[in-house]
Amino acid sequence: MSCYKGKYYDELIANAAYIATPGKGILAADESTGTIGKRLTSINVENIESNRRTFRELLFTTPGALQYLSGIILFEETLYQKTAAGKLFVDVMKENGVLPGIKVDKGTIELAGTNGETTTQGLDGLAQRCQQYYTAGARFAKWRAVLNIGPNEPSQLSINENANGLARYAIICQENGLVPIVEPEILVDGSHSIEKCAEVTERVLAACYKSLNDHKVCLEGTLLKPNMVTPGSDATKVSPKVVAEYTVRTLQRTMPTAVPAVVFLSGGQSEEEATLNLNAMNMIKGKKPWGLSFSFGRALQQSTLKAWGGKNENVGRAQAVFLARCKANSEATVGKYEGGGCGDLNQGANESLHVKGYKY
Ligand code: 13P
Repeated sequence: MSCYKGKYYDELIANAAYIATPGKGILAADESTGTIGKRLTSINVENIESNRRTFRELLFTTPGALQYLSGIILFEETLYQKTAAGKLFVDVMKENGVLPGIKVDKGTIELAGTNGETTTQGLDGLAQRCQQYYTAGARFAKWRAVLNIGPNEPSQLSINENANGLARYAIICQENGLVPIVEPEILVDGSHSIEKCAEVTERVLAACYKSLNDHKVCLEGTLLKPNMVTPGSDATKVSPKVVAEYTVRTLQRTMPTAVPAVVFLSGGQSEEEATLNLNAMNMIKGKKPWGLSFSFGRALQQSTLKAWGGKNENVGRAQAVFLARCKANSEATVGKYEGGGCGDLNQGANESLHVKGYKY
């Protein structure tokens, strides 16, 4: 049997291609209840349903922002929430040409037999959940596998196990109408060099594409969400141009041209750093048969969250900050971002958002 060619075949390919539209990217707003709680606590806002809804409404209804987005990833709770005026968030997105996405994994647990490495849970009942999410309007999904760089890590066991999990998730999504975003995140934690990150990312991506092939996943109906190739968080930083060269080379060596786009995670980079790195990749000439775009969580939301601070009177300013970041990243997808373009709205954009062992 060759790859998936079932009922959703054409739709999956069309939706993946749409998400890859140049000038557009993804907002990852799918923080679990625990993770969004940490964000809200940092601005002294209580982690209750109404506050989570209010912050997400601020993001999704920012005038002009949705033109820069082709998808927004939601946590299950948000998929069913409405604006204060009573419109489903999913309908706000659809009316603005943004596809709703859904986080379908259930977080990580320790992988027995390793030195603290992890595997991702959520395969049980996944097909049924995908059907419910599709009915609710979702058209793509995310599953985050997490690997780390250590003296003996990632182990071959963890690479194999996580690649297999991503492939099983991906084919279940496709059979139920959702474009799977394949996310093998290699954490930035550590003092390793950029060469080491490149070598590990190559091994991990190669294993993922082997598994996706073994599991008959239709690559045209998928997207890849990797880490950028950078030095570890405790090593000396390198310029965006160097990050871009290593990252594009890694993708050239491992990523099939059938996949329409790479949508990077920001992984604790500052907002400005993530945008400049993406921009530098899109300025490189040479073989890049896929779109290179963003699926940022922290790097799209942090200064907006701060500008809001949980206060109604700050909504306008917070939305201006969010709009500026969306526009900056949109420009970066076509190599046209000149840096610092958010003016005085840029405050905080250079702050590192790195958290050790980050759990999404
Ligand atoms: P960050 O951009 O904050 O790394 O998050 C993206 C994401 O969705 C991780 O799964």
